[in-house]
Amino acid sequence: MTTPWFATWLLATGLTALVATTQTRGQSGDRPYDLVIANGRVIDPESRLDGVRHIGIRGDRILAVSRRPLHGRDVIDATGHVVSPGFIDLHRHAHGDASYRYAARDGVTSAFELEVGTPDVEAWYRMMGPARLINFGVGAGHIGARMQVLGDKGFMLPTGPGRGAATATEITAILAALERNVLSGAVAIGMGVAYTPGASTAELAGVFRLAARHRTFVFAHLGSGARALNALLGMAGDAGASLHIAHINSTAGDEIRTYLDVVRAARTRNQDVTTELYPYTAGATLIQSALYDDWERWPDERFSRLEWAATGERLTRKTFAAYRAQGGSVIAHGNLETTLTVAIADPLPMFASDGGRDASDNPTHPRGAGTFARILGHYVRDERVLSLEEAIRRMTIEPARRLQARVPDMRDRGRIRVGSYADITIFDPATVIDRSTYGNAAAYSTGIVHVIVNGVPIIRESEFDDRAEMQGLRVVIGTRMPGRPIRAPR
Ligand SMILES: [Zn+2]
Repeated sequence: MTTPWFATWLLATGLTALVATTQTRGQSGDRPYDLVIANGRVIDPESRLDGVRHIGIRGDRILAVSRRPLHGRDVIDATGHVVSPGFIDLHRHAHGDASYRYAARDGVTSAFELEVGTPDVEAWYRMMGPARLINFGVGAGHIGARMQVLGDKGFMLPTGPGRGAATATEITAILAALERNVLSGAVAIGMGVAYTPGASTAELAGVFRLAARHRTFVFAHLGSGARALNALLGMAGDAGASLHIAHINSTAGDEIRTYLDVVRAARTRNQDVTTELYPYTAGATLIQSALYDDWERWPDERFSRLEWAATGERLTRKTFAAYRAQGGSVIAHGNLETTLTVAIADPLPMFASDGGRDASDNPTHPRGAGTFARILGHYVRDERVLSLEEAIRRMTIEPARRLQARVPDMRDRGRIRVGSYADITIFDPATVIDRSTYGNAAAYSTGIVHVIVNGVPIIRESEFDDRAEMQGLRVVIGTRMPGRPIRAPR
């Protein structure tokens, strides 16, 4: 029997192996892809892929992940760079054009406001419109719902009756408002026990039952102490609801090992509980919030741990009182690098920024601009606290999995595979680093070289791909807006 010449040639060149390892969908002949990302080191934690590949994109989807070079009308050469699924930030409070530019330069392709959320999901998506720089979504906020029902006039967080107890009738109204918002496509339910100290166990248990009924999860900022963690885990377990614990680094403080062990034990019991952290030792919040209600009893020393974000000045009893009456952001120093490193080294927490904003939509704390590059540059490369693949897993596939039970759109994000959305972040592992600091939070990260959202490059060669166009006689610099609303089915 003679072997056909082309089979011999295929075997000899090893091409059969190449053909077998190229995944494609709907590729017709030599028709070029809209965009090809060539020669990059593709890391996809879901499939455990880590190797040099070429990615073919058509429209908003990845259509090929190939060992062979691909033909594209537009080509990004990613030689020497890491090609990762776009980062997903589950915890971001600032949602506007300026804030999204900081997020994008930090590698983020989807950002969500889930902890505070919004009291009006429909209005939030209307306000955001159909397109932004990156993808965006929101949760139904328990804090905001009870502020409305109890008549609290505070900005974002309660400053008056929204902190107090609610009557049975008011609880019914709060839960009804939350349910309306869940039904209009909220991606989760936000809860901030620390900011609503008067919320009773009956009220919180009602929120967990609502979450279970609608197959969503509760995204919670806990009260302080491991007892608060156990109480919330108990309520979630009783209701059969999923729970995500916000910023375990700042909530746990010195008790980080205990918190992580408690969460791990709950997961071992098959409870659906996840958590996250931001890689900084200082927190930030509003000075008028319930966290500081006991300020008059503090020792003098404690005020100096707080920094007034607008000026960088450390506070005293006198200036604290004045700024609390005025309202605004404070940065709270005091956690230790050693406890933060324990949490980063632990495989459990995802990475999320908790990035806030000032009136101009700029970050008030470095986390709003530097979280993801800081993990990759400082903790992966310089300090070797965790591996690159591990870091990427906790900023891509893990947050996608947290959302995808209720939000089908997220089943196709957070991964690089044929058929998924082309949300892709390409960075230089040798140079990626945050530049945002406490003194100057409004500084872009560096080393994030290209960012692609729904198939459209928004950053190329470390610069925004802004387009200048003529509108009449005016030249208008337009930012590309490929980001879309991400919402649960209604
Ligand atoms: Zn929080």
